[in-house]
Amino acid sequence: MSLGVLLVEDDKDLRSTLRQALIVEGYRVAAAASLADARALWQHTTPEQGFDLVLLDLGLPDGDGRSFLIELRTQSQTPLIVLSARHQDGEKVQLLDLGADDYLVKPFGVGELLARMRVALRHRGRSVVAAVTHYVQDPLEIDIARHRVNRAGVEVHLTPTEFNLLARLVRNAGQVVTHRQLLLDVWGPEFTEHTHYLRLYMGQLRAKLEADPAQPHFLLTEPGVGYRLTEPP
Ligand code: CA
Repeated sequence: MSLGVLLVEDDKDLRSTLRQALIVEGYRVAAAASLADARALWQHTTPEQGFDLVLLDLGLPDGDGRSFLIELRTQSQTPLIVLSARHQDGEKVQLLDLGADDYLVKPFGVGELLARMRVALRHRGRSVVAAVTHYVQDPLEIDIARHRVNRAGVEVHLTPTEFNLLARLVRNAGQVVTHRQLLLDVWGPEFTEHTHYLRLYMGQLRAKLEADPAQPHFLLTEPGVGYRLTEPP
C-alpha cells in the first residue's frame, strides 16, 4: 500500500514538478491549488485514499496556508511540511509551534524534500519502503528513477501520463493493479470511474512496448479487474 500525500501548492509548474517526483518515488498524490481545494480533498478522503503526509504552501489565492494547518491540527496528527516562499525570522518557530513538522524555504531541491518527508514519516512511526524503480525483462528495460524506457536497446519516448501509468505497474510487477487503483494513483481521486482513460493509455503503451499489441506479453489485461505487468524472471 503506497503512502498518500496531499500537496497544496498554487504554483502550477511547481505543483506538477512535485507531483511527478512524488509519483516516481511511489507516493499517491492528490494535488490542491487553493485552501478550498485542500479542505475539500481532506474532508472527502476515504480510508483507501487517506493521507499520510501533507505538503503545504503558505501563500494561496484564497488565504494563508497556516489556517489549514491550524484546522488540521485540531483533528489530526498527520505529518505536515510547510513549503514557504518567505524566509522570516520567527516564522519558522511559529509554524513549528502551530504543529508543522518541518519547514522548507523555496527554492528547494526535490532530493531534500524527499529526505525531510522520510524523516517526518519516521517520526510518526511510518516507514517508507523504497519503491521498485527498475524492471528488466528482455527486450524491455524500464528505469523509473532515471525516467528511461528501452526496448531492444532503443529508447522509447512516453508521454508523462503513459510513463506514470507504466511506473505504477512496475511498482507492483507481477500483481494485478485494479482499474480503480490505477485511476486513483495516476489521474487522481476525481477520475476513479474513468476506465476509458485506462483503455486508451494501455493501448498506447502496448503500441510502443509490445511486439504485437494485440497479443501482449508484458501489459496483461485481467478482465473486469485491472492490469498486470508480467513478473520479471
Ligand atoms: Ca504560493
